[in-house]
Amino acid sequence: SSNVKIYSSTFSNVPLVNRGVFSYFLGASRPGYVGEHPANWPAFTDAASGATITRGHLRALSLQLGHGLTHHATLRASRNDTALIFAPNILQFPLAMFGSWAAGLRVTLANSAYNARELAHQYTNSGASLVYTTEDHLQTVRDMFTAVGLGAEGDKRIIIIDGLRWAGGANVPPSVASAGLVRLEDLLSMGAMESEEIFEGQGNETTLLCYSSGTTGKPKGVETTHHNLTSMAEILQHSWDAPTSREVMLAILPCYHIYGCVMQLLWTLRAGIKVVLQARFEPEAWCRNIQTYAVSLSLVVPPVLVHLARHPAVEKYDMKTLKVMVSGAAPLGPDLTRQALSIRVAARLASFGTHVAIIQGYGLTETSPVAMMVPTKSAESALGSIGVLLPNLQSRLVADDGLDAKEGEPGEIWIRGPTVMKGYLKNASATAGCINSEGWFQTGDIAVRTNEGFYYIVDRKKELIKYKGFQVPPAELEALLLNNPDVADAAVVGVYDDAQATELPRAYIVAANPSAKKAQLARDVIAWTKARVASHKQLRGGVAVIDVIPKSAAGKILRKDLRERAKVEAEAN
Ligand code: AMP
Repeated sequence: SSNVKIYSSTFSNVPLVNRGVFSYFLGASRPGYVGEHPANWPAFTDAASGATITRGHLRALSLQLGHGLTHHATLRASRNDTALIFAPNILQFPLAMFGSWAAGLRVTLANSAYNARELAHQYTNSGASLVYTTEDHLQTVRDMFTAVGLGAEGDKRIIIIDGLRWAGGANVPPSVASAGLVRLEDLLSMGAMESEEIFEGQGNETTLLCYSSGTTGKPKGVETTHHNLTSMAEILQHSWDAPTSREVMLAILPCYHIYGCVMQLLWTLRAGIKVVLQARFEPEAWCRNIQTYAVSLSLVVPPVLVHLARHPAVEKYDMKTLKVMVSGAAPLGPDLTRQALSIRVAARLASFGTHVAIIQGYGLTETSPVAMMVPTKSAESALGSIGVLLPNLQSRLVADDGLDAKEGEPGEIWIRGPTVMKGYLKNASATAGCINSEGWFQTGDIAVRTNEGFYYIVDRKKELIKYKGFQVPPAELEALLLNNPDVADAAVVGVYDDAQATELPRAYIVAANPSAKKAQLARDVIAWTKARVASHKQLRGGVAVIDVIPKSAAGKILRKDLRERAKVEAEAN
């Protein structure tokens, strides 16, 4: 209708390809080259040891792993099987991913902080048949196999990856507990595929499954296709003004989250950027690594900026090589205090001679992930903006009444384009609930758009909570809380904490026993939950005991009311 207002990207469309991800990122394009860059060019470096893997080495090892996976007597993996990676940021992570892709497997990435129950949901739902993991995570994987009813049979599906010894690097020696399990080095020694499985013309096949709760409910498998990922890489390559193959990126974001995976492991291969993998963010190590590896580029989440704004290590190291920091996965603005963070960090670095542009990117697991990014040259003028629409994408801003918002007015961001996921795995109704018949994906985020095409997030329509960039699905916590015999009803919302620049999950509960002591019950429920969820889902925003959970006539939790209430309570404290 004439009321529909479709915004196109201000960039011209870039040509896309229809190939498999392995061939695209690590293909033997011509002698001496892997993809667009020389085979002997470094791809990934382990920050702690300095051990480095080149593009050519990564391709060769991946073809060995692909051979091992398909020929090993008990694994017997084949094209379209699914492999789950349950590991932190280590050099073996990209190898596990690309080795699986070489053999045509799909890969599903799990949060390395998950407990057995959380992992079981993803293992079962994704239809995984093997799990890459580390010595540290082995017990959780075994508990997971017990939880899904496989017990010790599950041992045959485990591949221990951190025992592989790298040139110049350390390995984790085999433990007593892992004796007899399949090890990455065993699989690499069995031979090699001559070339990868080919997906030429089959770009619409699913290749990656990250988990997202979307606008409502529990985590769902997001079917990301070869075409989604190759398109994302081409789009970033042709729209972003900063990076060239001379850049060095410090990777602290977890590679199991799509933002970390695509920006740190995939697009970087397309661009020929050297990536230094740091196991987890720690301010001192971050600063030291910038100096040691002459890092020019780093991706962060807002809480990282909080640390950098006040940590003394910032003064200790020479960080003049640092040019661009990209903040994403959670809001940095429009609230003034949050915007100020990026100014503070930039100013602090400037006082030591570093000129760094801090820009925002925006996206979702469902959009592979980046849909918007601030051009580096607009870092200061577009403070608080999530950016402009990337090439090949279209957007709409749709108001509550279902009509497209007038210029300058807020609406829910709808996105259409080649990076929108195929759908939620085995969940047609959830897919239909967020992608309409015309291919518009509904993000659940509310934004305004300026005449120049800059978007600013103003609210979130969906129930999702983000703790330091990690998804906390309220529905999952609510279902869990209802298993507590002392809890009659529960609702979980996010409350923003300025000091840490993040939302915190806060529960409202109704006591099963009306005469229960409220303060004690609240403390008990926090501890009870802590024992049952990964760290990022803990009820750090507290628990409040109330008489009744506000609900609509249809029984839907009135989350807006609870969020308002949480804000008032936080201010009163
Ligand atoms: P995920 O699928 O885990 O990447 O989460 C996607 C959600 O994170 C989005 O729908 C937003 O609510 C939020 N998000 C991502 N980037 C930003 C940003 N730059 N500003 C505000 N919210 C963001």
